[in-house]
Amino acid sequence: MTDALHILKVALDVPLDRVFDYRTDKPNTQIGQYVVVPFGARKMIGVVVGISDTSSIESKKLKSIIRLDPEVIFDEQSFKLFQFCSQYYHYPLGQTILSAVPSRLKKINTKAMAKKYLYRLTPKAIELGIDQLPPRQTTLKRVVMALIDATLLDEASLRSMSSAWKKSIETLDEMGWIEKEEITLDDKVYIQAPIPSLNDEQKKAFDEISKTNKTFAAWLLYGITGSGKTEVYIRLIEEALKKEHAQVLVLVPEINLTPQLESRFRARFEKYMLVTLHSHLTDNERLTHWRLAKEGQAQIVIGTRLSIFTPMPHLSLIIIDEEHDASFKQQEGLRYHARDVAIFRAKSENIPIVMGTATPSLETWFNATKTKDAKKFGFLKLTSRAVLDSTLPEIKCIDISKSTVTKGFSPYLVEAIRDRLNKKEQSLIFINRRGFAPVLLCSSCQWTGRCHRCSSRLVVHLNQKRLRCHHCGHDEKMPLQCPSCGNTDLYPTGLGTQRVEETIKEFFPEARILRVDRDSTKTKEALNDLFLKMKNREIDILIGTQMLSKGHDFPYLSLVGVLDTDQALYSPDFRASERLFSQLMQVSGRAGRAKTKGEVYIQTAFPNHPIFEALKTHDYENFANELLKERELAELSPFAFLVLLKGEAHQLTHVMQFLNDAMINAQNLSTHVTVYNPVRPMMERLKGMERAQLVLQASSRVALQKLLDEWVPYLRENKLGQKVKWVVDVDPLEF
Ligand code: ADP
Ligand code: ZN
Ligand code: ZN
Repeated sequence: MTDALHILKVALDVPLDRVFDYRTDKPNTQIGQYVVVPFGARKMIGVVVGISDTSSIESKKLKSIIRLDPEVIFDEQSFKLFQFCSQYYHYPLGQTILSAVPSRLKKINTKAMAKKYLYRLTPKAIELGIDQLPPRQTTLKRVVMALIDATLLDEASLRSMSSAWKKSIETLDEMGWIEKEEITLDDKVYIQAPIPSLNDEQKKAFDEISKTNKTFAAWLLYGITGSGKTEVYIRLIEEALKKEHAQVLVLVPEINLTPQLESRFRARFEKYMLVTLHSHLTDNERLTHWRLAKEGQAQIVIGTRLSIFTPMPHLSLIIIDEEHDASFKQQEGLRYHARDVAIFRAKSENIPIVMGTATPSLETWFNATKTKDAKKFGFLKLTSRAVLDSTLPEIKCIDISKSTVTKGFSPYLVEAIRDRLNKKEQSLIFINRRGFAPVLLCSSCQWTGRCHRCSSRLVVHLNQKRLRCHHCGHDEKMPLQCPSCGNTDLYPTGLGTQRVEETIKEFFPEARILRVDRDSTKTKEALNDLFLKMKNREIDILIGTQMLSKGHDFPYLSLVGVLDTDQALYSPDFRASERLFSQLMQVSGRAGRAKTKGEVYIQTAFPNHPIFEALKTHDYENFANELLKERELAELSPFAFLVLLKGEAHQLTHVMQFLNDAMINAQNLSTHVTVYNPVRPMMERLKGMERAQLVLQASSRVALQKLLDEWVPYLRENKLGQKVKWVVDVDPLEF
């Protein structure tokens, strides 16, 4: 018989760590094509990961594929990446692959898409300017402002500004204010933008990195905000793109992918096709951009974490901006860290990778400056601001243990805000709410409960009146008196944005106040609105937790007030001070970017804490080195590697049985890995589910991975796990 069987090995989005065999009569199927197959009673999208003429399944039980799509969606390099991620993060291969498939493709029927346009203002519009627009047309103004800033915008960027963008474009079109052009593959526009000549440090960075442009090399480009890192990236990209067909991938945190950043790149890379990949695109746009990258047509891809999985056949350089940013870590499904995956990818494709930041993660700092043998990362520094007339803000601590604090505000801070109001300058009140977990603080001597086994603070569990270590599980009764001074006034720290807003309103009833929190800055619309209002001086006082978008200057902002940092100083999370430092550095950078001299007031009961000393002198390096010493003593990252097993179930006993069993199994598997007891996390219960977790810790990544290779399959098979929803988080950022 010549009628050989064609068996396709298909990866599917199901939580089973295996691929599935299907029969096909199409002999020319390729790896990487996607298919529609029957799975149980459903139809599913899958990706062909292997082709064979045999199957372990009896031939009459083999099902046939329903449809084979001609498009090959992943190449060999992509598969290497998926395999690595699946192995390293211990997540099923099928789910790993399918999480990188653009969701538009996952809809069973895809059809051709409409044409896409880019928009720009006409010379007439630029001449007349924004003042000529009818008053109260805020959307219209916003669109025009953005076009002035960006020169050229696509539909996705416009849509992210307002859902009414189409109407605005129509109006502008009728006014003769706008031109549109179709996005085509040889789309070429030329606009002149002033190009600075590199200063000595930038030049050195550029030269050193360029030397490695044909092989793998990882670089840390460490430089304060405004020191010209982006300019260095741009030069490196120009250099890389001199090679025919080359492609470059630029990864940025979601919040930084603003139309302003995009336009800066577009202005400098007009001859090239640049696409973006991020969550504000529609599924169609995402697919178009992704395809352009995959076909090798888009030369520059700027995207958020998921874009690390974009197939790019001619990838020549990877850049990661704000390397330390926690948004590079995915917190659900495939829990990858885009920076780490990017390093693997760069190695496997033998290309350089450049990581830029003002406050490197300690892991990266360690790799770049501390490793004993041949340094893992190259290290380059930019030490001064690139624009000469901008200065660093002055940072002052207000000792709140020595001043009367009214509803969270010391009189000094209130006076400073009043002073700005009088001068018609703006203030920003920053509340650090990340990693919020109440610790018990003595109002008199500032005692806080510490765990005797870990370098962490004990967390208040008010309901049970207990203090607990979230790291090792140590648990003790909440004291009624301060163990250090006998004071009975012990209180859990914490302050919310809403309360702060109310207080500010009381103090300054005449001020125009805007409160922005994490959720409201998630949409670009809100962010753009905020920037516009700040620019137009429609806001006097801004209150918020996370508005640290890079590349945005608030020219009239001259005061930053920081409330309530102390909870972060004493957070049970060992990364809290690292994060606090980088947040405070960034937020300080918001003050005095232009000609107005900036001041930063930090309220704290611990003005002599090393973190503030370091901030005052803008000295990340010393601070990072001190933190590294602490981490080394405590055997924490980067000196140890951690894995978190989290479980939740309706009944606590089910979670605990499962975790205890997992713990014993892990202990038996390896003597090189420390296995801690299961503990309750800060959020003991979430949405009616009882939660608990355990930590594995090892000084050898290899030993840890070896354990996981046996442990995770064991967990999958474990019957105790049936009533438990559990996940394994490798290199967790949050506990
Ligand atoms: P970073 O990415 O480190 O925050 P940027 O590259 O955005 O810094 O530079 C900050 C500002 O300085 C930008 O306005 C940029 O155009 C300008 N700039 C960068 N390099 C130079 C230079 N060598 N000379 C003059 N201005 C520069
Ligand atoms: Zn005390
Ligand atoms: Zn502990």
